[in-house]
Formats: sequence, structure tokens, C-alpha cells
Amino acid sequence: MPAKSPLPPDVALIRRKVKRARIEIERGGDIRLIAPIRYSDSQIRELYYAKIRWIEKTRQKLAARERRLTEKPANQLLFLGQNFDVIVDRNLAGLAIDYVSRVIRTCEDVLSDTARRERWYKHEAEVIICGNVRRIAAKHGFSYGKITIRSQKSRWGSCSSNGNLSFNWRLVMAPPSIAEYLVCHELTHTVHHNHSTEFWRLVAHICPDYSIAESWLRENEAILLDM
Ligand SMILES: [Zn+2]
Repeated sequence: MPAKSPLPPDVALIRRKVKRARIEIERGGDIRLIAPIRYSDSQIRELYYAKIRWIEKTRQKLAARERRLTEKPANQLLFLGQNFDVIVDRNLAGLAIDYVSRVIRTCEDVLSDTARRERWYKHEAEVIICGNVRRIAAKHGFSYGKITIRSQKSRWGSCSSNGNLSFNWRLVMAPPSIAEYLVCHELTHTVHHNHSTEFWRLVAHICPDYSIAESWLRENEAILLDM
């Protein structure tokens, strides 16, 4: 592709006080090209067209990931990182989850509307996350206050100065290790109320694979928080 071609319309050019240029691909495929102020138009075009194959590949990868997470048959729920079939059984007293064949049997039609679906997730989140908190706190000697399950579009969890913990119910859509990591993260905040080196040292001690969970969240949070 000749570097003389103009930038396509889906590329937002942002000139900033940065040392190096970088390209960011947003959800939906739009591109932000962040370039140092001193870069000329032709330098920017050259940079863009030199990266065009990488951009296309990355866009395809992102789109495929989004499809994996959001496209599922109407009778399924994303639960613990996998799609579960939902079977409504009015004769059932409550709920039965078969983790092996990935089937959720429930007396209530949890898929009929968003409010019901969210109520179902919230309830499951309460069971799973409170269980994680109790287990991890007991193992590592943390003490904490109240646990609240919230519905936030911007964050996964928090820990107040008096040790009250809150978690996003959407965590139960992620693989189990992600909710476990978030619980470790927030419990560590009961000791270190910041993201200091000491904080991360303690996180690494109780959750050695924490960086895998961190990057999973970074890659998937835009999709999950929007659901
Ligand atoms: Zn934190």
C-alpha cells in the first residue's frame, strides 16, 4: 500500500506529547493512532501502512473473541467462562447445575428477561464469591467486613477503608480463577490500601498466577462489563 494514501476514515489520529507512536484497536474495530506532535503527515501514513497487516490480524482476533463471548444460542448462559444450556423445569424446587455436561436446570425462566437473568447471576455470584472470600481469608488470615455483590459497569471489585468488600456479579461469567484472583486482590487491600510494591508482593504470594488473571481481565473486561 503506498504511503501516499490518506488514512482510512476509521482511524482517529491523535497527536500527543508522547515519545513513540502507537496504534490502539478499540472494541468494534476502530483505530486510534497516537503519534508524537512532531511527526509529519507522511511519517504517520508510512507508520500506519507499515502496520496494516498487524492491524487486520488483531482486528480479526478481537472480533473472534467477542463472538466467542457474546454469541450463544438463546437457551444458554455464560457461566464460569463457559456456555451452559438452560432447561426450565417447573417441577424443580430450586436449581440444579451439572458442571460436567454444562446444564443448568431451574424452576424459573431465567432467560426470559434481563432483570431475571441478572438476579440469577447475582445470586450465584453471592454463593461463589462469598465462598471464595471465606476460604481464602481463612487460609491466609485476612479479616474483612461485609460482602456486597454489585452491578457496576466500571469495576470488578473494591475494598473500603474499614474492610467492606464489594464484587461485580459479572465475575461469575469469567473462568473461576478470575473471581478467585479478584477475591485475593480485594482481601489484600484489607492490609495494604493501595497498589504499592508491598501490595503486589502479597498478591503474588497468595495468588502466584495473578498476572494471567490480570491480563485476562484487561483483554475481556470491555465485553463483560457491557453485558
Ligand atoms: Zn486494587
